[in-house]
Amino acid sequence: MEILEANDFMKFLEKESFMESKNQNIDWLTKEYLNQKFDCGCGTKHTFTENGTGIIWKEKLSGAWVLTDKNCDYVCYVKGKGIFSSTLKTIYSSNMKSEYEKWKKKNK
Ligand SMILES: [Zn+2]
Repeated sequence: MEILEANDFMKFLEKESFMESKNQNIDWLTKEYLNQKFDCGCGTKHTFTENGTGIIWKEKLSGAWVLTDKNCDYVCYVKGKGIFSSTLKTIYSSNMKSEYEKWKKKNK
């Protein structure tokens, strides 16, 4: 896992054509990964749960998400791995909740 500056994380998301997920619907692919733990930039692991984790972004059908634990200021770019056992691997993490709030206001 690499910790990125908020600006760099934002740039990465823009490059990947980041789209805010409009709903929190858990689709079949996402469901595979519920209750799995993912590493977070805050130094702990969080568990991906329906109510405790915000899905900021979801890459369609490829098994990658931008997740944020509702009690944490870090946002994580997480990839799903594995077919027979589903695990989550954090690629990037960034302390950017405040940046994200700003972005949301700007892009309403
Ligand atoms: Zn955290």
